[in-house]
Amino acid sequence: PAAVDLLLSRIRDVPDWPEPGVMFKDITPLLRDPEAFGTATELLADVGRDASGVVDVVVGIEARGFILGAPVAQALGAGFVPVRKEGKLPSATSAMSYELEYGQATVEVHKDAIAPGERVLVVDDVLATGGTVRATVDLVRAAGAEAVGVAVLMELGFLNGRERLPDVDVHALLTV
Ligand code: IMP
Repeated sequence: PAAVDLLLSRIRDVPDWPEPGVMFKDITPLLRDPEAFGTATELLADVGRDASGVVDVVVGIEARGFILGAPVAQALGAGFVPVRKEGKLPSATSAMSYELEYGQATVEVHKDAIAPGERVLVVDDVLATGGTVRATVDLVRAAGAEAVGVAVLMELGFLNGRERLPDVDVHALLTV
């Protein structure tokens, strides 16, 4: 459909970034185009609208998940909560670590940001190996909240990130 073509046309392939052999999906052209950004916001918000019941909180994952998640939260009348890399949030945090290809990474959320029983939509730009979203969903559940869905702009299907997320609804606007 036209919306998908518009979004696809505004995502740029950058070869060998951040390291040789990686084809990076750069969403900055999409953000630069108000029509494409607005379309992406509405389609990501639709994931929340389809989740049968209110979304209390949109969690955006650092850093591009902030840019996409904030307007989605506003569109849904939900609050916005940032999940950040280790050491960036100022107040008391809960943390979750996950495996990378080489080594480990940790994401954090403010302890008082998500209440038990709240319904949470997780938003990010790209689903790759799924480790980041996996850890984020685990953080949401550790807070006693419900992960009603995950909404991403683009899924890199060949990395099979979905296999790490069998227990949550994952929606990608685009799959490559
Ligand atoms: P994962 O944990 O391997 O799924 O990696 C997902 C995280 O890395 C997300 O927060 C993305 O923003 C980022 N990421 C991985 N690959 C890309 C890409 O090609 N473009 C933009 N972000 C990416």
